[in-house]
Parts: sequence; C-alpha cells; structure tokens
Amino acid sequence: MHVVYTPRYTADIGTHVFPTEKYNLIYQMLAGEKIIQKNDTIAPVRPSDDDLRAIVTEEYLDDLLHARLTARTYPSEMPVKQNIIDAQILCCGGSFQTAQHAMVSGGCYHIGGGFHHAFPEHAEGFCYLNDVVFAAAKMLKQGVDCIAVIDLDLHQGNGTAKFFENETRVFTFSMHQERLYPKKERSSLDIGLEIGIKDEEYLEKLERALDRIFNDVKPSLIIYLAGADPYIFDQLGNLCLTLEGLQKRDEAVIHRAFANRIPVAIVLGGGYAEDVHDTVEIHCNTARILHKTLISKIK
Ligand SMILES: [Zn+2]
Repeated sequence: MHVVYTPRYTADIGTHVFPTEKYNLIYQMLAGEKIIQKNDTIAPVRPSDDDLRAIVTEEYLDDLLHARLTARTYPSEMPVKQNIIDAQILCCGGSFQTAQHAMVSGGCYHIGGGFHHAFPEHAEGFCYLNDVVFAAAKMLKQGVDCIAVIDLDLHQGNGTAKFFENETRVFTFSMHQERLYPKKERSSLDIGLEIGIKDEEYLEKLERALDRIFNDVKPSLIIYLAGADPYIFDQLGNLCLTLEGLQKRDEAVIHRAFANRIPVAIVLGGGYAEDVHDTVEIHCNTARILHKTLISKIK
C-alpha cells in the first residue's frame, strides 16, 4: 500500500505531550507487517512559498520561514524552531500528495498531517500550517468539484472550518468533544460530544452523519482525519472509545467511501495516549483497514 512519509516528521520537540516519534513507529510497524513494501513510500515534496501563500498571510509566512517568535507563532504551544516548522511545511505537500494518490488508487495513507488548528494568520494547538486546508485547496484548484473533510479527531477542526466557511465546494464535518479546546468555529456539520461517550453511541452518531455526507453531499474526494485521541486512555480528552470502537469508526468511513467509489485520503491528527504504543496501534489499525479494503477491491 502506498504511504506518504519521511523520517523528517519525527522532529525533536523536546519534552512535550505530542509524540513525534509516533510517525517513525507507525512506519516501522507497517513495514514489519509488509503493509508497506519496497517502493511503496512516497516522500513528501516541500511546497513553494507561493503555494503556501494560498493558505497563510504574508506576515505569518515570513515568521514561519524565519522561525520567529511572534504573537502569530507563539500560540502553537510548540517550540518555534525551524526543524519543527519545516516538518509541517513538508506535511502540507504530503497531504496534497496523499489526496492526489487517492484519486488514482482509491485510498492513500499519510503517516503525518492533520494539523487542523492552524489558521491563515496564526498558529494554534501544536499546528503551524493546516495541511488539510492546503491539500483541499490544491485539489479544488486541480478541478475536484466537491470535497468532504471528515474530521474525527478528539478536537474540533477549527482552522479547517474557518478557512472553508464560505467555500461551498468543501463540506467540513467535525465530531469532537464539546467541552474542550478549541474555541469552536462553524463547520458545515458539527457534532459536539459529551464527556464519557462510549463506542456504541459514538458509532451511531457517526453513521447518521455519514448518511448525510454520502447521500446528500456526495463528495468526489474525502479527506479523513483519523485522530487517535478520542481513545479512552488519552491524556487530553474525556471520550471513552476503545481500540475496537476506533477500528469500527475507521471501517465506517473507509468501507462506505469504497462502496460509494469515493477516493479517501487519510491523515493522522492527534493522539496522546498514556502509552505511545496505543496511539501507534490506533493509527496502524486505520492503515490496516485501508490496506485490507484496497486488496479486497482489487481482487
Ligand atoms: Zn486532537
């Protein structure tokens, strides 16, 4: 299965709740299982500064290119360092390539991305640049007429929602914990979840939302943000999904996309489990499900 990945995503960010080592661990795990084979890895290509101007303001881009600590970069809650910013710039290219590849193969997996809290004029919540916005905007430019962003991270995709607020060709759906960071923007469809929600109720709500997306919106491309942080043992959230529940979540999205012949580009998003191996397992399960679905479709 093709994946988009570079070891450069594992940027050293010092002691931090965000486990950047997860990218490398996921890659190693999937390679060990032969889900990723020789020649399957697509290296992300860094977008030009001009390309980045499509999603960020001139002032903010200048801060990023100089790793400058300003009121615009400070809210990242990350060190303002060039290697970290560069990794997220690369990630924008990576998510775009994932979407492009999905259009050809039916599904593609980015071992990275999902920085959905970044805004055009400032960073926020570990996110400098919104790779989901970058990929969607580029795909619109390439002629894709309707894109659905299915954001199932624990946190609302506020940056994505705001950016596409007035863009009718992008349907933004976010299902997230309601009483939690961030300050909410308006997605095309928001489902705010109560604390403590378990698998069954979560999956019911998801199915209803997917009905609407597949029956009414009928997108030509899905960008699926498969966050690992709705997990019961996540340090940042209070949702109570199990590993099995998260697998069923992924199946719900991926199987329906394939049944409706809609390409699906998957990006990772957050994941802050007490044990990083749980985060890795959740993300790998998403890849395993995509891999299985791709194979059964080819047969
Ligand atoms: Zn999150």
